Amino acid sequence: TERSLVLIKPDGFARGLTGAVLERIERKGYRLAALSVLTPTREMLAEHYAEHDGKPFYEPLVAFMSSGPVTAVVIEGEQCIAGFRSLAGATDPTKAAPGSIRGDFGRDWGNPVQENIVHGSDSPQSAAREIAIWFPGLG
Ligand code: ATP
Repeated sequence: TERSLVLIKPDGFARGLTGAVLERIERKGYRLAALSVLTPTREMLAEHYAEHDGKPFYEPLVAFMSSGPVTAVVIEGEQCIAGFRSLAGATDPTKAAPGSIRGDFGRDWGNPVQENIVHGSDSPQSAAREIAIWFPGLG
């Protein structure tokens, strides 16, 4: 079975959407393998978002992601990496399908692509890399 690293970003956390996101994960049949509430350091985020270093949205993204608590979750289940990305919906909440987390809860104003409620790993390699950042010591 796969594992994926899910983050409920500071906007989702502040809006009280943690429970709603966890409910969708559980309803889909994925298990929660680890869960933690923390305010990420810039160092963790530099590692997490290394592939985006240098892009125009990188600095604002790191500032936003370190602005308050997030819920980090390791989920577990058959094909949960692709499955969670389906649950999350398109990166841009304005384009995300209704029924998806971003489609249902994402906002169309402000900086919606940055403040898109959740993150989910995009491959088994990313999942392993990201889980090591957010849950050092988890096997
Ligand atoms: P995630 O990895 O968070 O599920 P994603 O894989 O759909 O999202 P990426 O292209 O990997 O999106 O970008 C990672 C994150 O960077 C996005 O979730 C979003 O918060 C932010 N981001 C990406 N592109 C932009 C942009 N053009 N403007 C602002 N923020 C952006």
